[in-house]
Amino acid sequence: MLVFNNQADLKEHLKSVSTSQSTIGFVPTMGALHKGHLSLIAQSIKENTTTVVSIFVNPTQFNNPEDLEKYPRTLEADIKIVKTLNPDVIIFHPSVEDIYNGNTKSEPFNFDGLENQMEGKHRPGHFDGVGTIVKRLFEIVKPNKAYFGEKDFQQLQIVKKMTTKANLPVTIIGCPILREESGLAMSSRNERLTKEAKKEAAIIYKILLQAKELFNSKSAKEVENWVETEFKKHTLFQLEYFEIVSEFDLLPYSEKTESKKARAFIAVFLNNIRLIDNISLN
Ligand code: AMP
Repeated sequence: MLVFNNQADLKEHLKSVSTSQSTIGFVPTMGALHKGHLSLIAQSIKENTTTVVSIFVNPTQFNNPEDLEKYPRTLEADIKIVKTLNPDVIIFHPSVEDIYNGNTKSEPFNFDGLENQMEGKHRPGHFDGVGTIVKRLFEIVKPNKAYFGEKDFQQLQIVKKMTTKANLPVTIIGCPILREESGLAMSSRNERLTKEAKKEAAIIYKILLQAKELFNSKSAKEVENWVETEFKKHTLFQLEYFEIVSEFDLLPYSEKTESKKARAFIAVFLNNIRLIDNISLN
């Protein structure tokens, strides 16, 4: 199994195996891989001759230094599970220096306002960091297709926007959210939850499902108020936001229309660990 620790070696290898028939599928991750990541990798393997998975905890997208410091780093285990899935997958695990060359800063992006909603509001600078790293990784890997999870739906929309605005020669593929049996969305951050907290966290998806049901008969505002009241009863949780927005522009979903897709987004703290999830409503 090939693991590259710097961009020069990866680029050289990709050039050497490139043919007129070959296609590169790319799955960017921050590691601590779980079945959600593996589903993206499996889809890329199915659709491309070469699959590259990056494992890079990108400092510029963290607005909270403690979150960056405590982010799980499990490279050996990650290599093992990817190898078990398919030993032909290429892993790219660069250093911060290799990517940022002594200047660990984001570039500013304009994603037509998508960056100002939800995660953007609560994690200042986050999407500039995401845009910076995704753009750099695309320049290095030059993928034909890149795979992103709906778990980070706002990020997926932002990467699509960046690709369209800059006319990048890559197709962005959105992949469904994989969940634990309890309904909890799989996430590397779940590793930091205690066993008990992980059980409690199943409430998040239960509430999302109830919100979806309620949305059949109530307005977005009424559903938002209901969710806020529910979380006040679950005192282990601190709700950061619950919002129902239009999938297209991520703006508040004020009026129900057949043609406008609605999606509910949530961010909630449990034991100081920030969890996010979302659900399609129509
Ligand atoms: P991360 O390592 O958290 O940056 O995630 C890397 C990619 O995997 C992103 O595109 C995520 O949206 C995706 N991902 C993370 N968790 C899940 C999940 N539970 N189901 C599907 N995709 C996921």
